[in-house]
Amino acid sequence: MHYVHHTLLPAGTLVRVPLGQRRVLGVVWDEGPHAAPAPADVEPRSIVEAFDELPALDASWRELVAFVARYYQRSLGEVALAALPPQLRDLDRTQLMRRLKKQARHTRQAGPQNAGMAETISPSPPETSVVLTPQQEAAVAAIDAAARLQPVPPMLLFGCTGSGKTEVYLRAVEQVLSRDPLAQVLVLVPEINLTPQLEQRFAQRFPLQRRVALHSGMTPAQRLHGWLAAHTGEARIVLGTRMAVLASIARLRLIVVDEEHDPSYKQQEGARYSARDLAIYRARKMQAAVLLGSATPSLESWHHSRPVAQDDAGGRYLRLCMPERIGAAALPAVRVVDMTQQPRGTVCSQVLLEAVQQRALRGEQSLLLLNRRGYAPVLHCTGCGWKSQCPHCSAYRVFHKIDRTLRCHHCGYTVRVPRTCPDCGNQDVRTVGQGTEQLEEALNQQLQAVRRPDGEALGVLRVDADTTRGAGSLEEHLARAHSGAVDVLVGTQMLAKGHDFRRITLVAALNPDTGLFSSDFRAPERLFSLLMQAGGRAGRDPALSGRGELWVQTCFPAHPLYAALRKHDYPAFAQQQLDERLAAGMPPFSHQALIRAEAREQQTAQAFLNATVAATGSLPDAAQVQCYPAVPMVPQRIANRERAQMLIESTSRAALQRLLPQLGVLLHQHRTSAILRWSIDVDPLAV
Ligand code: ADP
Ligand code: ZN
Ligand code: ZN
Repeated sequence: MHYVHHTLLPAGTLVRVPLGQRRVLGVVWDEGPHAAPAPADVEPRSIVEAFDELPALDASWRELVAFVARYYQRSLGEVALAALPPQLRDLDRTQLMRRLKKQARHTRQAGPQNAGMAETISPSPPETSVVLTPQQEAAVAAIDAAARLQPVPPMLLFGCTGSGKTEVYLRAVEQVLSRDPLAQVLVLVPEINLTPQLEQRFAQRFPLQRRVALHSGMTPAQRLHGWLAAHTGEARIVLGTRMAVLASIARLRLIVVDEEHDPSYKQQEGARYSARDLAIYRARKMQAAVLLGSATPSLESWHHSRPVAQDDAGGRYLRLCMPERIGAAALPAVRVVDMTQQPRGTVCSQVLLEAVQQRALRGEQSLLLLNRRGYAPVLHCTGCGWKSQCPHCSAYRVFHKIDRTLRCHHCGYTVRVPRTCPDCGNQDVRTVGQGTEQLEEALNQQLQAVRRPDGEALGVLRVDADTTRGAGSLEEHLARAHSGAVDVLVGTQMLAKGHDFRRITLVAALNPDTGLFSSDFRAPERLFSLLMQAGGRAGRDPALSGRGELWVQTCFPAHPLYAALRKHDYPAFAQQQLDERLAAGMPPFSHQALIRAEAREQQTAQAFLNATVAATGSLPDAAQVQCYPAVPMVPQRIANRERAQMLIESTSRAALQRLLPQLGVLLHQHRTSAILRWSIDVDPLAV
């Protein structure tokens, strides 16, 4: 489509244009001699309106969007639209101008902090003037020094749980904001709901700076508001989840990526971008600093920050280490329970149960992690062997006792639990395995007789996707967990993240072994970081320091992963994993993409992938890229769609990047109506 306007519009201007019968949002992408000439046979159409009172989207933002589209093999329009707040699509020029005026008025009224432009940073309020520990001091000094380098190297803050990373982020932000009165910073977190404390600490530390949030839990109006504040430069601090990395922030000088290893930084649909990787890209392009932080960095970041060795030039990132907890608090002792010595089917071992009981008697909390929602993962007939298989997926439906349903966690298909076996009528239908719901029930029974120091019965609270569905219900659950009423927390891994529970002294992973032998080569990395992070919840209160314990129930007590865990030795674990990856030629020593396809028949999906890839054989870059045969995905079938995937790998990122667009063209050409969907995932996280 070609569009014209009666005045010259600068590049980056938002416009509304006709498209067929509709009017859609657009961005003037280029101007002057670069703009593409109109093809002779296309009648240009007029731009309906230009949002020219809104500052144009600057070149660096357009460059970022163009990069995302190119790198992740999506269209420019799709990425640009996804990066803009949805409400922009619905407002006309007058409405938007009204919004801008309102926002400006709000800013003026809100007092000196929002006068926006020429403010200087005030000294920190006394209650937050923390004295840095020597290792924090060193990290802050290193960040300050690095920020003066040209170019600024990406930085990885490797600090154990409770080492005070947040304080370092705050200081880094303070440095940047005080150095440049217009500077903006972006702070990325994996999930905003799980880190309300971080937001609070920024609010306390920067009461005079305008801060906004950007995440998917906000209403469209809130998102537009936050986006506009970031775009116009009013907001000095933008705190958000992965989507915020695509916001327009013209004076961006620092990006902080907290828990940089977290898988939720990877978008799993549309443009499957990694917000962490884009933070690195964006910082480099804008000559901003980027600070990644984690107790268990991704192996990619760990590798890129390797120190200079004799035979190696070292990594591009600067690594900053904070190995000690604040106040010399001990890291939790790790206890491994050998489950081969327990009765079969045990979910919570007797020793663990006793330990939980002891904590409760002392007024301390325990946190039990079980990675399975529902009451039991499978229902099974003892007569004919029937199992609660989902008719639409290659997966079992999970038994939820609370509403007596069988629910498929993949497609959502839900029915009431049959009283008798649907196949043979047998009444003896049993559960197999245990989920969080059953664990909660069992704990309530087993701990029935135990009394807290105040004479009350124990409080057991389950926190998982089922109990926290409604708006605000997660916050409510977390508030209860913080209050004195709860002694035992039961939950899935969502509880292991970031939360600062003060009275927890025991954290137990009940069934972590599945992460040891997964076909996904990243499974051990994820397991290790999850366990370290979970352990980090224990013994955080200085008063309880030294009491923290991390329990692991396993059938493989001698596994090297658990050995490294006992010593809290992330570097040793990372080295062992990197050695394996180097030997096997896996990331970060190679680069990958996955092509996925869905069809009614598995064979159709696989044949489509195999045939397309066979056709790339003659392309110049094919020699440098290895394509593996198509295989079924896990689970293979969801909602009656058979899913297949094909792994593509190269030691040259450039060669892979050159091949992918050509492959995209071939996929378009080979696609038949039998192929329901296909997609390309660059740098996939789950293989
Ligand atoms: P991390 O994010 O590295 O796990 P936090 O930033 O949450 O650690 O810090 C752990 C605890 O230590 C927090 O309660 C924090 O307020 C406190 N803390 C951080 N730095 C200091 C300091 N220099 N002096 C005293 N307490 C500190
Ligand atoms: Zn049966
Ligand atoms: Zn299903």
